[in-house]
Amino acid sequence: MLSIRNLHAGIEEKKILKGINLDIKPGEVHAIMGPNGSGKSTLASVLAGRADYEVLDGSVDFDGKDLLELSPEARAGEGLFLAFQYPVEIPGLSTTNFIKTAVNEVRKYRGQESLDAVAFLRLMKEKMAMMEIDQSLLSRPLNEGFSGGEKKRNEIFQMAMLEPKLAILDETDSGLDIDAIRIVANGVNKLRSKDNAVLLVTHYQRLLDYIVPDFVHVLYNGRIVKSGTKELALELEERGYDFIKSVVDAVE
Ligand code: ADP
Ligand code: MG
Ligand code: MG
Repeated sequence: MLSIRNLHAGIEEKKILKGINLDIKPGEVHAIMGPNGSGKSTLASVLAGRADYEVLDGSVDFDGKDLLELSPEARAGEGLFLAFQYPVEIPGLSTTNFIKTAVNEVRKYRGQESLDAVAFLRLMKEKMAMMEIDQSLLSRPLNEGFSGGEKKRNEIFQMAMLEPKLAILDETDSGLDIDAIRIVANGVNKLRSKDNAVLLVTHYQRLLDYIVPDFVHVLYNGRIVKSGTKELALELEERGYDFIKSVVDAVE
């Protein structure tokens, strides 16, 4: 589904990613962990197509398409979801209308007709029940005055509505409390299927108690320095990132 080869990227003359290789197949959940500043959010941002990041080398294939050539809108149309793409507050725009626009933009990209009011409502109801989200949250202006937990709930609801092939969740800087961890984990676990995949970026092992990943990768200094299964996350929790750093720094 996703194949990253030798990806180098940076921002404002600064090289951050220094040769990332990663393959994600349908049905898999991959966790990217690593110390602060190692490039986790940069990787998520580059995959999302955020304009301020510059790709310097390498390639990213997403379901047979050259991802790096696609606009952010086209990436969404192809089935990529990025939670932090929409954390903005838009005064006056209800969350429902925002999600309706997003859903219909994706449909338009795929040559499908817009959902009419009835069909949209039906989909909303189904996903609201699934994600245990309250109607009142959705009629409020997008993210305006939302608590951290409400923002998470809303993000995860957007993901459920868009039914992405690949969801990329960057949970590093969101100050995940236990409530938010449960919201994210329940959402991801309910959406997991053999046809879709999740790339979960996190600094904390704790989230992986709730979302059990198939693979764990450690990003350090712009490279994936170690990959393994969920046991690797437990090992990191126990030994800390310093042990990874010392091994890598000794080799370099
Ligand atoms: P992580 O998510 O793993 O904590 P980031 O991808 O946020 O790491 O950051 C990687 C490195 O890039 C850090 O050294 C950070 O200071 C730097 N960086 C991130 N954003 C910018 C920016 N806008 N301008 C300059 N340097 C940046
Ligand atoms: Mg950081
Ligand atoms: Mg980060």
